[in-house]
Amino acid sequence: MSKVFRKKKKQKNLMRELATQRMWRLFELAEQEFGEHPERSERYVRLIRGISMRNRIRTPGEIKRRICKHCYAFLVPGRNARYRLKDGVLVISCGTCGKEMRYPYRSKIAKKSGERILERKEKGTEFRPSQET
Ligand SMILES: [Zn+2]
Repeated sequence: MSKVFRKKKKQKNLMRELATQRMWRLFELAEQEFGEHPERSERYVRLIRGISMRNRIRTPGEIKRRICKHCYAFLVPGRNARYRLKDGVLVISCGTCGKEMRYPYRSKIAKKSGERILERKEKGTEFRPSQET
């Protein structure tokens, strides 16, 4: 591998890393704003999708499961979305368009983020519905 090639590859990785970081930042903002300004959350979702497409990188699984793939609504468990586990599949119902998304609950990554979402849902709906962080 030549030095130039290695450098290029590194730059590309760095760009993707930064893009992913930006997606997480926007995701956090979308979550923060959803309570009072749901329309801002929608805008952050569009920005996240834009970054993903421009840089040709995947949206991290946990973020993906919080965005409706039909109407691109920002999904908040217990507010406008329902998360259920059924036969090894995570079924997400969007409260905005009413459609469902299914994610196989097999890979380690899917399992981890699915569990986290379900945990949060329980926390949010049973204990502190208004203070979900
Ligand atoms: Zn939807």
